Amino acid sequence: MTRAHWYPPPSRQTEQRCIELFESTYGGAPDGVWSAPGRVNLIGEHVDYVGGICVPFALGERTWAAVRSRTDGILQVASGQLNAPWYGHIDHIAPGRPDGWAAYPAGVVWAMRQEGLLPAEFGGADVAVYSEVPLGAGLSSSAALECALAVALADLHGGGSGEPGSERRSALVKACMRAENEIALAMTGGLDQAVALHARAGYCLRLDCDSEEMQQVPLPLERHHLEILVINTNAPHQLVDGQYAQRRASVDRAAQLLGMRTLRQAFSVEVTLARLVELGEDSPELLRRVRHAISETARAGTAARLLAEDRLLELGPLLNASHASLRDDYEISCVELDTAVDASLEAGALGARLVGGGFGGSAIALVHDTDVEKVAEAVASAAAARELAEPSFLLAEVSAAAG
Ligand code: ADP
Ligand code: MG
Repeated sequence: MTRAHWYPPPSRQTEQRCIELFESTYGGAPDGVWSAPGRVNLIGEHVDYVGGICVPFALGERTWAAVRSRTDGILQVASGQLNAPWYGHIDHIAPGRPDGWAAYPAGVVWAMRQEGLLPAEFGGADVAVYSEVPLGAGLSSSAALECALAVALADLHGGGSGEPGSERRSALVKACMRAENEIALAMTGGLDQAVALHARAGYCLRLDCDSEEMQQVPLPLERHHLEILVINTNAPHQLVDGQYAQRRASVDRAAQLLGMRTLRQAFSVEVTLARLVELGEDSPELLRRVRHAISETARAGTAARLLAEDRLLELGPLLNASHASLRDDYEISCVELDTAVDASLEAGALGARLVGGGFGGSAIALVHDTDVEKVAEAVASAAAARELAEPSFLLAEVSAAAG
């Protein structure tokens, strides 16, 4: 057996490191320190943009932001994870400017000003960020960074950041999403930002991406002696440019042919596929994409109902079906993710699936709490046997939103 590599558990020391970074970078103390969580999506993957249902929750791992106001219009940002500090005038922030990681915090300032969430006299800020959310692992370090800064600026200058579930928070979700889409030029549907700002400890957020309704559904893992093992495959970045756009184009085209606003208005898989063929669209690839979109929303809806009925032990088959659908119909898995999922199940996991965008990143496995080590070691051994990157593990804590 190969020993599994575990991330250190989330700790308030990260907050302390953030403050130290602020003091060593800018001198003096920040006005305050804020944080926002990473996330995993329990189920409902790649359906946010077809008006589907997602069931994400916030992780215990957080990104901290120490912030001090300025009066000269300058924004300065420094990160404990990436050694590339940046400063510039807030009036000069624009699509693609700055580039690199600073686009995320600069984008938040830009978008909050655009959305009227900061007053006209806002004069910039000194910002230090420090994160225990692994970067680029599909656990949404980008939204954690955006949302930590957004609540900081809202509290300091925007009349408060509101409570999870509030309209104020939804306005911050929109601003953070615009920051990522329009300034960092990264596609995101808003799911990550919604969890980071609306999550409640011990609960999943059931997000209806059609009606935009949010509901808290309990995920009491401990009471059921369960754990959710998060497996970062550390798969090398693959050339996946354009894959997201291709998937979107397929499902958008299907909705358009069917005369529907989104595929959420579609009927059952069988009826919808038959209708598409009738309409002359018989590309097997497009039909598979549509089958994923419709079946995954159905699974996510079922999973949310099981959570509401406290039937956590029955989630496994839904997670497995989600993975199979993402692998075979949506075709966004890879050998690292399939290996992690298969090894988890062989070692006794109740269910497992890839999470996030796919083509690498992370998977989750639902396991009995007594099986955690066994499953992690089996996954590590399977990766080693296939000469894949060494995966890293953490145990999900179902955590609270930014604050
Ligand atoms: P994910 O959100 O799944 O972690 P993304 O590619 O969406 O992956 O976002 C990762 C990017 O976000 C990083 O490459 C970096 O530009 C930025 N980022 C996130 N956290 C930090 C941080 N603590 N310090 C600097 N940049 C960060
Ligand atoms: Mg991201």
